[in-house]
Amino acid sequence: MPDIRKALVIGAGPAGLAAAIQLKRKNGISCTVYEIHQEPTTLGGAIGIPSNGLRLLDRLGVYEPLFGLAANTVNTVAYSSKGIELGEIDLWYWAREKTGYGFMRVMRTDLQNMMLDAVLKEGIQIHYGKKMVSVEENDSEVIATFSDGTKDTADLLLGCDGIHSSVRTLYVDPQAEPEYSGLSAVFSFIHTSDILPTASTIRDMCGILTPDGVVGLMPCTASGDTLFWLFSYEVPVPAVDNTQDAWEERRKAEVEGFKITLLRILHDAQGEFGTLLKQVVRTTETVQFYPVSRLPLGRKWSKGRCLLLGDAAHAMQPHAGQGTSLAMEDVFLLSRLLQVHSYTLSDVFGKFDEIRRPRVEKFYKLALINGERRKRTGPWAQWFKELAFWAAIWVLRSTNLHKWGFGQGDLVYDVDDVVI
Ligand SMILES: Cc1cc2nc3c(=O)[nH]c(=O)nc-3n(C[C@H](O)[C@H](O)[C@H](O)COP(=O)(O)OP(=O)(O)OC[C@H]3O[C@@H](n4cnc5c(N)ncnc54)[C@H](O)[C@@H]3O)c2cc1C
Repeated sequence: MPDIRKALVIGAGPAGLAAAIQLKRKNGISCTVYEIHQEPTTLGGAIGIPSNGLRLLDRLGVYEPLFGLAANTVNTVAYSSKGIELGEIDLWYWAREKTGYGFMRVMRTDLQNMMLDAVLKEGIQIHYGKKMVSVEENDSEVIATFSDGTKDTADLLLGCDGIHSSVRTLYVDPQAEPEYSGLSAVFSFIHTSDILPTASTIRDMCGILTPDGVVGLMPCTASGDTLFWLFSYEVPVPAVDNTQDAWEERRKAEVEGFKITLLRILHDAQGEFGTLLKQVVRTTETVQFYPVSRLPLGRKWSKGRCLLLGDAAHAMQPHAGQGTSLAMEDVFLLSRLLQVHSYTLSDVFGKFDEIRRPRVEKFYKLALINGERRKRTGPWAQWFKELAFWAAIWVLRSTNLHKWGFGQGDLVYDVDDVVI
């Protein structure tokens, strides 16, 4: 077992907080978390977590409190661009039966708060407003230096600092650069009491397929009093160039114009759902805009005493809904590997790579495929897409394949059962 007594965790997102909790509890490693923001912050919005991630959140002790806050969704309902229901299906049935965990849609702030509570209970310190500016190593320790001139040393440094990871760019793999996926999202929340009474009956994950992208509407609280909605669509790289300023201009334009854009896109959407969706858009005051990027596959995840976890290592498009769950799996596997007596740290990182890469790549590719379905389509492709959705749901329902686990094998994966 590598002699690891202290770890520096860079980043207080889901990966960093989970790593600090798990390594402290299961490995007796003293962890200190460094977060760049001055206070707990999230990207906003709500995320979906399937059974493989929920099981690990339960082991961390945050599932029970989240269950009382989040929406536990059973069905997915797809609509055509005209607002006609294409079908409804329980895509998590088999995985839920097998694992006891279904699918949760949770506000990011709720997830963060529950994880922060667990971190505090463990007595783990989080230092906010800390920007790491360099990483150095010698034979016995790794040293992180921060922009305020302070330093900290440890036996292990974990880069849990997301897609733009400083641990990666300063040390592990400076050449690995995020690439824009061509897809962006606008999203917001709405209280059901502010809109039509039909809103309070929304219990499912509902999505309308338009030729310009997918508009989704779903509850994200246990009572269903708050709905999360998003529009996932193609947005080209700004004409000027791919700079932060150009993207800021683009963000402003998308946020200011979201109502006009979406009401035009939803013009043909009729029926109860189409009408509701248009009212949701009209009533929403503001949205957030997020261009979706990913890291290229096949890059380095470790160097010396440093390991990247979660998005810092393998940020992918969110269209497989697995980013948070994969980050949890990374953490649990690392904790197990660090308990193997015969392993050096280099063995741990090697085995981590060997076990995690195939699984990560599988979801990465699935997210790419799912992302393609959000891209702009012509009338024939749209007609075909709607037909394909209708047919797929019809086949699944009439054969009960979803109840036999079709497409759900990866959701029952338990990283704690993997042979190491
Ligand atoms: C639009 C969108 C929708 C998504 N939907 C889903 C979904 O439905 N389900 C799902 O599972 N996943 C979803 N994801 C992906 C999910 O958000 C990520 O996979 C997950 O947050 C990864 O966690 P992380 O801790 O690795 O990184 P992050 O959540 O990015 O956390 C990184 C942390 O590090 C901090 N940090 C950054 N740089 C530094 C630095 N230099 N020094 C110190 N701290 C730093 C950040 O402030 C942050 O606190 C979505 C992503 C996007 C963009």
